[in-house]
Amino acid sequence: MRIDRIQELLATHGAEAVLLTFLPDVHWAVGFTGSNGLLIVRRDSAHFLTDRRYEVQAHQEVRGAEVHVPGYELIEHAAKESLLGTSGTVLFQSDHVSVAHLEKLKAAFPDVIWLPAAAFLTGAVAQKDPSEIEQMKAAQHITEAVFEHLLGLIRPGITEREVAAEIVYQHLRGGAERVSFDPIVAAGPNGALPHLRPTIRTIQAGDMVVIDMGCYVDGYASDMTRTLAVSEPGAEARRVYQIVRDAQQRALDSARAGLTTKHLDAAARDVIEQAGYGEAFSHSLGHGIGLQVHEWPRVSYLTEDVLPENAAVTIEPGIYLPDKFGVRIEDVIVLRAEGHENLTGAPKDLIVL
Ligand code: ZN
Ligand code: ZN
Repeated sequence: MRIDRIQELLATHGAEAVLLTFLPDVHWAVGFTGSNGLLIVRRDSAHFLTDRRYEVQAHQEVRGAEVHVPGYELIEHAAKESLLGTSGTVLFQSDHVSVAHLEKLKAAFPDVIWLPAAAFLTGAVAQKDPSEIEQMKAAQHITEAVFEHLLGLIRPGITEREVAAEIVYQHLRGGAERVSFDPIVAAGPNGALPHLRPTIRTIQAGDMVVIDMGCYVDGYASDMTRTLAVSEPGAEARRVYQIVRDAQQRALDSARAGLTTKHLDAAARDVIEQAGYGEAFSHSLGHGIGLQVHEWPRVSYLTEDVLPENAAVTIEPGIYLPDKFGVRIEDVIVLRAEGHENLTGAPKDLIVL
């Protein structure tokens, strides 16, 4: 059980308790999906606190912790009921707690020694179990069905923003809770800006169109990018597309648990650099994904984390040529000891509409 895992971490840190306030981590630990709550895990017990809006939901969802719905300040209740203990060392998520919040904690528990613990659950959360992978596949399937739908919709004259609206609508219609980020639809020269918001520019014949989208199902995210052409895009665009595709394939071929993030990034980056477009690949190769669409580990030339077994990461190389076009291709994979499992099945040969 995940609470046991947290209790093992407490022992490693030599702490009596941990206060978890980062909601994706609380979701991971006890299953709560609401927008307000905190979790206290002690060596021999666990307490989940939320407000009255979530009373019914908390009782339905929370596993492994006693549920408290005080009807007033959660921290005040934790103090009154001594849920954290009254003294000893307590860890807090220093990468998610504001200075003001910490002051409040110190005031409510004057005899507790507060110990900052950044990235407390990062490694544990990264390693997905089979049920989590199933949920991610469900999200990915919806995104792929939306992509299929878009192939019948994208044509000269439609605006990027209309396509983006359709992406949101079709994801919700297909069973997603919400989109995992504002969709990116970037056509022609707009595609050279990797994270541009969709504009009112109409898509034109000859455009390369970068589409990056995803959704949440049961709290788990999908994320997929495909680049397609609207009528013949020309020789340079075809060449660049093939380079990005080869770079992604090289990274997929070498992806496995135990590699460093820098090493995996280099697998794709080398292909793009050798083709002369190194400067045009202006971002990291990928990122961890799960209960958050962007989570640890970052697959980057700037980081040297060792990729853990069963971590889900994106592989998304791109080439961006200012005033011309951009190309990015993104899959989600799960790292295994001997390779990877690709959760993304959408086609990758260049589609010319
Ligand atoms: Zn993406
Ligand atoms: Zn991504």
